[in-house]
Amino acid sequence: MSDTATPMMAQYLDLKAGYPDAILFYRMGDFYEMFFDDAVQAAAALDIALTKRGKHLGEDIAMCGVPVHSAEGYLLTLIRKGFRVAVCEQMEDPAEAKKRGSKSVVKRDVVRLVTPGTLTEDTLLDARRHNFLAAIAQVRDATALAWVDISTGALRVMACSAVGLGPELARLAPREVLVADGTEAEFCDAVTENGASLTSLGRAAFDSTQGEKRLCALFGVGSLDAFGTFSRAEVAALAGMVEYLEITQKGNLPLLRPPVQENRDAIMQIDAATRRSLELTHAMGGGRSGSLLDAIDRTVTAAGARLLERRLSSPSRRLDVITARQEAVAALVDNPALTGDLRDMLRGVHDLDRALSRLALDRGGPRDLAAIRNTIGQALRLHQTLTAVDLPDTLVRVQNDLVGHDTLLALLEAALVAEPPLLARDGGFIAIGYDEALDDARKLRDEGRGVIAQMQADFIAQTGINALKIKHNNVLGYFIETTSTHAERMQAPPLSDTFIHRQTTANQVRFTTVELNEIESRILNAGGEALEIEKRLYASLSQAVLASHAALGQLARALAEIDLAAALAHLARQEAWVRPVIDDSRAFLVTGGRHPVVEEALRRTGTPFVANDCDLTETPIWLLTGPNMAGKSTYLRQNALIAVLAQMGAFVPVTAARIGIVSQIFSRVGASDDLARGRSTFMVEMVETAAILNQADDRALVILDEIGRGTATYDGLSIAWATLEHLHDVNRCRALFATHYHEMSSLSAKLAGVDNATVSVKEWDGDVIFLHEVRKGTADRSYGVQVARLAGLPAAVVARAKVVLDALEKGEREGGAARRAVIDDLPLFAAIPPTPPPASRTSAVEDRLRDVLPDDLTPKDALSLVYELRGLL
Ligand code: ADP
Repeated sequence: MSDTATPMMAQYLDLKAGYPDAILFYRMGDFYEMFFDDAVQAAAALDIALTKRGKHLGEDIAMCGVPVHSAEGYLLTLIRKGFRVAVCEQMEDPAEAKKRGSKSVVKRDVVRLVTPGTLTEDTLLDARRHNFLAAIAQVRDATALAWVDISTGALRVMACSAVGLGPELARLAPREVLVADGTEAEFCDAVTENGASLTSLGRAAFDSTQGEKRLCALFGVGSLDAFGTFSRAEVAALAGMVEYLEITQKGNLPLLRPPVQENRDAIMQIDAATRRSLELTHAMGGGRSGSLLDAIDRTVTAAGARLLERRLSSPSRRLDVITARQEAVAALVDNPALTGDLRDMLRGVHDLDRALSRLALDRGGPRDLAAIRNTIGQALRLHQTLTAVDLPDTLVRVQNDLVGHDTLLALLEAALVAEPPLLARDGGFIAIGYDEALDDARKLRDEGRGVIAQMQADFIAQTGINALKIKHNNVLGYFIETTSTHAERMQAPPLSDTFIHRQTTANQVRFTTVELNEIESRILNAGGEALEIEKRLYASLSQAVLASHAALGQLARALAEIDLAAALAHLARQEAWVRPVIDDSRAFLVTGGRHPVVEEALRRTGTPFVANDCDLTETPIWLLTGPNMAGKSTYLRQNALIAVLAQMGAFVPVTAARIGIVSQIFSRVGASDDLARGRSTFMVEMVETAAILNQADDRALVILDEIGRGTATYDGLSIAWATLEHLHDVNRCRALFATHYHEMSSLSAKLAGVDNATVSVKEWDGDVIFLHEVRKGTADRSYGVQVARLAGLPAAVVARAKVVLDALEKGEREGGAARRAVIDDLPLFAAIPPTPPPASRTSAVEDRLRDVLPDDLTPKDALSLVYELRGLL
């Protein structure tokens, strides 16, 4: 047992040293093996057996492994659990290593570092969602954010203030964010709050001067000005990103489109808390189900679904952009037959972007080529269909991008079989008739016998010897055989020019020919040769496809645009949504608005959704009162969602709407403790309210639900009051403000821009009935006690609450001092059942304690008990 590492272990440790923070998948034959601490962590994360293999420095080496053929699943699990994985392959045939000597180790190298932001495999990705990698760079006082979806190659960059970073990260929801070494602490909160993993990179990677050179080289331009005017920080962020792609893909860069600059001012600003509370793309629980995205998604292609998510996450603030999108949808709403046809055709379209990126990274296969062929063909049919109708400009532009790939299509159609296999290495994907050499090789391989039989017939014709045969044995291989009677003729000219004598037996003579020898070795090599030719053809077809990647990218985008417009049109017809009027005013007029998600949920239970109006045009702030469960939050949210949908260019769930462009949406609806960050509900609420009051401009739409609820009544009321005044006087924004402090209704008399509204309920037989109708005015009562009863609070408690409420209300009417007196006068034990327990000389605390068996108590029980006892004092 030696303490020095075996040659293999030495190689392993050497490779591992380059990837200290990743799990190293070390290829050994049909397995990826993991060792030492990697093995311990991976075995636990993957729930696989941990074993041992040899010793290192006197200690057992922990080991675990996964089979190569099922490695992707394991890889995905590790990435989801936050690990990074360095994949190390054998770089030569083990036989080569043996030739160098018995101690020689197979050459290995890391070919790829797999991280959450750099996935490309279909199996590792959600087809309908983007997988962004982002980079944050700072140069002096400027901050910039760059992001890329390497599976589609779209590269974006944006200048961004430090405050703006959080909302942008929330919008993009990247899986991984790169920052420069030493700045982790500064960005950690913004990054992890949005569920991304943080990766730090040497500062040199973010050098803007070097970075500019590298980007110019990458895009083959002399200056980045070709793509826009980029700030130093923007260049630095792009450079850091490209450097990281090189590190993780080991120099095999994905197809990157030239960087596109985004402007924060062009997009409706929605911060992380608002996105969460509006459940735009993720429901509160975290999944897609229950989100607005899920409720409105009618796209039929993956790229269309990704575009929808992108649009919904970044509604526009530009009237021209919104109008153009609306026109496309409107044209299709008016032509349902066309929409249906387009959607049917789009179902035959593949994910062009992702197929392209796999080809570029050499992780593709013949199916990717076939996907591109089918998609180009389908795009032609879509083009024809669209040509037959009158289209708005937006769709005409899109339509023009659908064509122009005839040569490539002809090439792929000629070259590929209808349904090729997944892997290039198995061959069998090139069509017959495309390549003569390949056809010959395959013929020989498949029809070796036929070829030989043909040859035999040829030789018979040539010699006139009908008994001539071509045979095969292991010693001679293929040979020609005739009976001895023909020996003489065969061995004299002219036949001896062709036939070479090999062997004479008792009754036969055996010959070969140059041609037969060739055929023989060709038959033997034919299988291998066919494969080699196919691989060569695969490479040249991939090259041909990649040569037009930019135009194919445009095609992919055009298909996604059509899918999205058709999906929104389909949705609009299905759900009777209408086109909102969008303008530069400060109007917010919604007639018959609905909440798409709640409506869908209610539909399943057969309950109709009550549509409601909202008009903030003249009085920009509505103060909404009404009991719990009346539908206040639903109403607040639905108006925010209508604004989001309208500005993404969709139709909206209303009977009519006019909306002056909204610059920012803020929503504080409901709250939960953020214990992980040590904040109570009240604290979270105040932090978020502060953000709104500090940031909302006069074009913002603010939704506030029950602020101040987390603290004592008067504190809460005062905060809500002051907040409303601030919104009215300083922010001057449009706002919906729901509160249970009815006292606030009086503000509408003092503030010109505030109106009162309430959600109506009816009282019937002591119960409340929710009508869910929003109307002008104030709620007459809270109905809290009735709602509590509906919720199943014990009857005795409800009865007692009524007594207290009546007394308090009476006191309220009679003024402050009277109220105090009322509280003091409340019969203290009124809620206790009429028959009192038999008098006892011991106290309630003592009685309770007597029943306790300390050994049976968990620490939690014990704590509850202390509370209970305290309550009995
Ligand atoms: P609140 O915020 O006033 O406590 P919610 O908005 O949470 O009330 O609504 C409570 C429930 O009432 C919802 O879950 C929904 O089922 C129903 N609801 C709300 N608004 C409507 C409506 N406009 N039409 C029909 N049902 C509604």
